[in-house]
Amino acid sequence: AIDIDRVSKTFGAVNVIADLSLKIRSGEFIAFLGPSGCGKSTLLRMIAGLERVDGGSISIGGQRVDQLPPGARGVAMVFQHYALYPHMTIYENMAFGLRNIAVPGQEIDRRVKEAARILEIEPLLARKPGQLSGGQRQRVAIGRALVKSPKAYLFDEPLSNLDAALRVRTRVELARLHQQVQATTIFVTHDQVEAMTLAERIVVMNARKIEQVGTPMEVYSRPATEFVARFVGSPA
Ligand code: ATP
Ligand code: MG
Repeated sequence: AIDIDRVSKTFGAVNVIADLSLKIRSGEFIAFLGPSGCGKSTLLRMIAGLERVDGGSISIGGQRVDQLPPGARGVAMVFQHYALYPHMTIYENMAFGLRNIAVPGQEIDRRVKEAARILEIEPLLARKPGQLSGGQRQRVAIGRALVKSPKAYLFDEPLSNLDAALRVRTRVELARLHQQVQATTIFVTHDQVEAMTLAERIVVMNARKIEQVGTPMEVYSRPATEFVARFVGSPA
C-alpha cells in the first residue's frame, strides 16, 4: 500500500500541493484526474521519490520513500515523453535500468524477453527507437518499467502523445497488463474517459488538493463538488 499523509509542496513562493492525504491499496488501479497545473505530476514525482516533500510523509509498504535509496523504492515511472535512448536497441533500452543495478545477464535476458512477450514487441527488440511508431515506443517505455517488476507503476499521462485510435488500443493493453501483473498502478491523466475506463478509483484533483475520491460510478453520479461535476461531465 502507498500512504500519503498530509503532504505539502512549495516551489519558491508557490504552494502546489496542500496538506494532501490519500491511501492507495496494494494492487489497486487508481487514476489522478485533474486540469493542467493542479499538481498531478508533482504528486507522482514525490511518490516516486524524485521530488522532496516539504511537509508530511509518503510511505510505500510501510517504509518512507525519502528514507529509501532509489533502487529500493520498488516503483517504476513511465513518462509522457518516453525518452528512449536513440542510439540503443530496444533490447538495450529495456535492459539498461537492470544493468545499472547489476542484475545478472541471464536474468536480464529472461525479464526483457518476458516483458517483450507481454507487450507484443518481440519482433522489435533489435531495432532502434527511430524505427518504431509512437505506439510501439510507448510500449517500450512501459516495458522498461515492467522489467523492474516494481511494486507500483507510476504512469504520467503515458498515452497523451498517441493519436486517438492508438490511445484506445494502448488503453486496452494497459488494462490487460494490470490484469496480468496485478501491481499497484497510479495513472495520471486529464482525460476523463481514460480515468473512467481504466481505474478502480479516481482521485479528482483541483489546484493543490483532492476534490473527491471514489469509484468512476461514484464520481460521475454523485460528484462531491461543482468542480467535479463539471470536470467529469456529470449530468446536471
Ligand atoms: P499537467 O496536466 O499540465 O501536466 P500537472 O497537474 O501535472 O499539470 P504539475 O506539473 O504538478 O501539474 O505542476 C503544478 C504546479 O507546480 C504548476 O503551477 C507548475 O508550474 C508548478 N511547478 C511544477 N514543477 C515546478 C518546478 N520544478 N519549479 C517551479 N514550479 C513548478
Ligand atoms: Mg503533469
